[in-house]
Amino acid sequence: MTTAFYTHPDCKLHDMGPWHPESPSRLQAIEDQLIASRIDQLLDYRSVPLAQESDLAQVHSAAMIALVREHSLALAGTSGCYPLDADTLLNGHSWQAALRAAGAALAATDAVIKGEIDNAFCSVRPPGHHATSTTSMGFCLFNNVAIAARHALEVHGLERVAIVDFDVHHGNGTEEIFAHDQRVLMVSFFQHPFYPYSGAEPAGGNAVNVPVPAYSDGSVVRQLATEKWLPALDAHRPQMIFVSAGFDAHREDDMAQMGLVEADYAWLTRQVMRVAAQHAQGRIVSCLEGGYDLSALGRSVVAHLKVLADLE
Ligand SMILES: [Zn+2]
Repeated sequence: MTTAFYTHPDCKLHDMGPWHPESPSRLQAIEDQLIASRIDQLLDYRSVPLAQESDLAQVHSAAMIALVREHSLALAGTSGCYPLDADTLLNGHSWQAALRAAGAALAATDAVIKGEIDNAFCSVRPPGHHATSTTSMGFCLFNNVAIAARHALEVHGLERVAIVDFDVHHGNGTEEIFAHDQRVLMVSFFQHPFYPYSGAEPAGGNAVNVPVPAYSDGSVVRQLATEKWLPALDAHRPQMIFVSAGFDAHREDDMAQMGLVEADYAWLTRQVMRVAAQHAQGRIVSCLEGGYDLSALGRSVVAHLKVLADLE
């Protein structure tokens, strides 16, 4: 197995303030834990290009792209921030970081489809799954997974892809972007009721998004994945699988109130690997979304990567 690891220093320069949980130290915590776990040498570290604005425009409105670009670039060389909403801010590096985050997902998609690597994890920020076609929100500027999935469909000509979103929050942006697009199946669970208070009513008939109550643990998630996700994924026969890999359902993560542990993320990843092996030539591109307890995040990403790289 060749598992690629995509990250870029620019992704640590996007900073929404010292109080903000979606912080640059998240990526450092992941890198530190890879080294501590001695799996860093086993991964294929790959360079991350900048996404083109035309790539973003495959998913997002011109006005949304211009808003992020103009307000971020206006802050270049300053320490200021511009609030897009109460918890989503731009600094002078956010535009560049966002282009790297989307660029990583796109480069990983290209490399997996060309067969250069088996699968990939993009350790990038800002995250993406709350970003809708017209609005950056919920710590997310552009929807990295949606941009990559549409690239796989439109540029590489894939006919069916799946998006597995195991972040604790509903991926409202991803669902909205692909609602009614029968080429895309989205499966997810999310704590409900909880931010962004969507998802309980399906948007388009091509998503299996399962609300779960607070204080659910991994056994609940494994059961719903077995009963609801896997039959839908097998019926869809995706030619590639994208993962919105948020680790904020971890029981040590104070952002939410769920009880997953590293073994649950490993189990979820094994299910994705099995579906990908059966239908998709093993093609998986996983992108970091949430995960705010730094220790739990690092350990959970390692658990995810060990399965992706077939190290256990
Ligand atoms: Zn989240």
